[in-house]
Amino acid sequence: MTELVKTRKNSSNEELKPCPFCGKRSSCEARYVFGAPYPWAVFCRRCGTWGPHGATERDAIKKWNKRASKKAVLKPCFFCGGMAHMYFQDVWIVECTSCGVSCKGPRIDGPIESWNSMRRVTE
Ligand SMILES: [Zn+2]
Ligand SMILES: [Zn+2]
Repeated sequence: MTELVKTRKNSSNEELKPCPFCGKRSSCEARYVFGAPYPWAVFCRRCGTWGPHGATERDAIKKWNKRASKKAVLKPCFFCGGMAHMYFQDVWIVECTSCGVSCKGPRIDGPIESWNSMRRVTE
């Protein structure tokens, strides 16, 4: 994940919806990512989820709110039972915070679906 991020308090008057993954609102904030073509994205400090990127802070918040209205539940890691988080790095990535196994996809819903549909083959 990029370290070139600048944290900004929500300076537009757009209200942030709670994180669709962990349900916290106080941990969500708009961040400016240097060098990205769409530099703004909302980030949840609690679960490490990045929202969709936008050209402006307002844009990113709008997209986040649209996404946040559709609740997404990430199941615990299929391999180790660890907590999953989601972020964007060229593609959407759902990743286990303990063992690092991940699902990737260009659209936000793809990796969530693949992650949640992982099943044990031998059972
Ligand atoms: Zn969260
Ligand atoms: Zn894991």
